Amino acid sequence: MTISEALSWASAVLADISESASLDAEVMLLHCLNKNRSYLYTWPEKILTPEHLKMFKQFVSQREAGKPVAHIVGEREFWSLSFLVNATTLIPRPDTEMLVETALNLPLADDICALDLGTGTGAIALAIASEKPSWSITAVDKIPQAVELACANKQRLHLDHVEVLESDWFSAVAGRQFNLIVSNPPYIDETDVHLNQGDVRFEPHSALTAADEGFADLYYIAATAREFLLPNGYLLMEHGFEQGPALRKKMTELGYQGVATVRDFGSNERCTIGQLI
Ligand code: GLN
Repeated sequence: MTISEALSWASAVLADISESASLDAEVMLLHCLNKNRSYLYTWPEKILTPEHLKMFKQFVSQREAGKPVAHIVGEREFWSLSFLVNATTLIPRPDTEMLVETALNLPLADDICALDLGTGTGAIALAIASEKPSWSITAVDKIPQAVELACANKQRLHLDHVEVLESDWFSAVAGRQFNLIVSNPPYIDETDVHLNQGDVRFEPHSALTAADEGFADLYYIAATAREFLLPNGYLLMEHGFEQGPALRKKMTELGYQGVATVRDFGSNERCTIGQLI
């Protein structure tokens, strides 16, 4: 089977279970071949070795059973960086790049301290660190395997200055203060039907769902961050597309100034920022 035949075969097999069947096929084949994207287009007629074909077929059948591509190949690109991924944390989402972009555009000095709560793979903290090498960045997660994964990603990306700690929200940073606190906390309602569909079925509920219609952690962080923010510090959190109005109200009641919501690439409300003067 040639590269192009393998891709057409896999795209057809995956068409029913995935909205991104041909992209899935390409990402999985590239992983088997250990090449970059242009290789597939440069060598469409190249015959796959029996080993590569066997591996590719195994990947396609795992995908057919619903397993996320990121779990099959063990990595996912975020902010043009490659992150190791496993079933202990959320798979980084393109929409979360909007939170990174918003953080990077804040009027902050070069020597600030930032905290990422519930870092998972470390995607947010490490993407910010890659752009702001002089910031002191701390990333925390309460799941030990997530801390391990974030540490592995930090080493892989050579962002050694990022501090990664095991911490239940703020527990390990007691007494410290930051100029910027960011988080993509769990915010999906526990009864949301989307939890039974697609890739989220393979992600841990601890990273996805929160009590009080998904607001419990957003509100907890908004209230508690007040102790951990330096004067003029910012809190920036990702949330569900319908949670903006209630979160803006809550943050304003809690004393945050200039509370505003940023939309994602699909023009849904996605992250909200406020400043504590
Ligand atoms: N945006 C993700 C989703 O809809 C959820 C991320 C989260 O809970 N923090 O699948």
